[in-house]
Amino acid sequence: MSHLNTNIPTEDMEDALEALDGLCTICEAIPAIHDAKGLPWCSEHAYRGEFVNWGAKHGWLALELAPYAVAQGEWFWVNAAMLGDDEYVWQMLLAIEEIVYQESEHVA
Ligand SMILES: [Zn+2]
Repeated sequence: MSHLNTNIPTEDMEDALEALDGLCTICEAIPAIHDAKGLPWCSEHAYRGEFVNWGAKHGWLALELAPYAVAQGEWFWVNAAMLGDDEYVWQMLLAIEEIVYQESEHVA
């Protein structure tokens, strides 16, 4: 069961973010970056912010990369970044890099 299936009510996430008080969304360390949604990430977890940034830039598109997937929509991307385990987020980023590589090949 690796398809990420999360469903946090919006208010709960807002409360959780407020409680973080501007610290890393995962480990509450001092953040190194803030992503396109303003979520704080420390240097160790900055890759999750990159995941959000890429989604923002590409209209939160649906990515199906068996066995991993993220549905279309900001909500799913942000949930995946906040709640996905390391393996999930890394695999998605690797898949994204593959897409970026293919896109650049078409341009060249
Ligand atoms: Zn962190």
